[in-house]
Amino acid sequence: MIINIDSSAGFCWGVVQTIDKVETALGECIGKQVYVLGQIIHNPKESERLENIGLKTIEHKDFERIDKDNSVVVIRAHGEPPSTYEKAASLNINLIDATCPLVRALQRSVKKYYDEGWQIIIFGKKDHAEVIGLRGVCNDECLVVKNFDEAKANLDLSKKTVLFSQTTMDKPTFCKLSEEIFELFKEKYGDNASDYFVSKNTICKFVSKREQKLIEFAKEHELVIFVAGKNSSNGKILFEIAKKANPNTIFIEDIKELSLDELSQYSSIGITGATSTPQWYMEELKRILENKYNIKG
Ligand code: SF4
Repeated sequence: MIINIDSSAGFCWGVVQTIDKVETALGECIGKQVYVLGQIIHNPKESERLENIGLKTIEHKDFERIDKDNSVVVIRAHGEPPSTYEKAASLNINLIDATCPLVRALQRSVKKYYDEGWQIIIFGKKDHAEVIGLRGVCNDECLVVKNFDEAKANLDLSKKTVLFSQTTMDKPTFCKLSEEIFELFKEKYGDNASDYFVSKNTICKFVSKREQKLIEFAKEHELVIFVAGKNSSNGKILFEIAKKANPNTIFIEDIKELSLDELSQYSSIGITGATSTPQWYMEELKRILENKYNIKG
């Protein structure tokens, strides 16, 4: 049996820099409690590791009760709406901003178009933390849609319109949505449609580039074990891509979900995951499988 870890799996650099900032804060802020606002990463294993070295997770409503003189609060990679920064400032809470630079740039772009009076459409999930931040920068005056029907039902074609994407959505669906919306503007404005509709592909390149590598990796293995947190939206998308490339792909959050004895039938097993899946956890799974089947590493 051959067991491989997908070399393109593991944390994206946005998550790496967030975790670096958390670990630095835990090391430097001796005597101070380090909090993170919302789950640091959509992966319970990594969250547990960081909690074991002192990180605590809080929600917005906890701002009032924390000891502001003896704590710092980390803003995670997904970013936050302006109201969070305002509230923290009003309560003198020390923030460490670990918003991914790509998410920050997306927030700035949404704000710029909003300030110029454009109608904003966001392809994404309304309650995803990143989208909550984007809604915040445009005072929630935007359409958040998952498909063309939702966009069509609510669009005001008389307004100049810009389409953005949550960074972790899938590219083919975004491109299709963008074309379909453009067709509506073409029907109304003909050759001038591009003056009225602009499409910004703000899907993270790290995510979109991974897709092709994941497809190749999935096809190369008899069984693919996809490891990710059940709440990871990027995990759900990448898992579906892997499963399409190789129907023999299974999703696990915890190694305990695997029936190890049943894996003996496979000659090659590929281990992969989402942008929030820690490398150390995939390596742990590989070690367990190698021990079980007496494979020399
Ligand atoms: S997936 Fe991309 S946008 Fe999201 S945190 Fe990672 S690097 Fe940043």
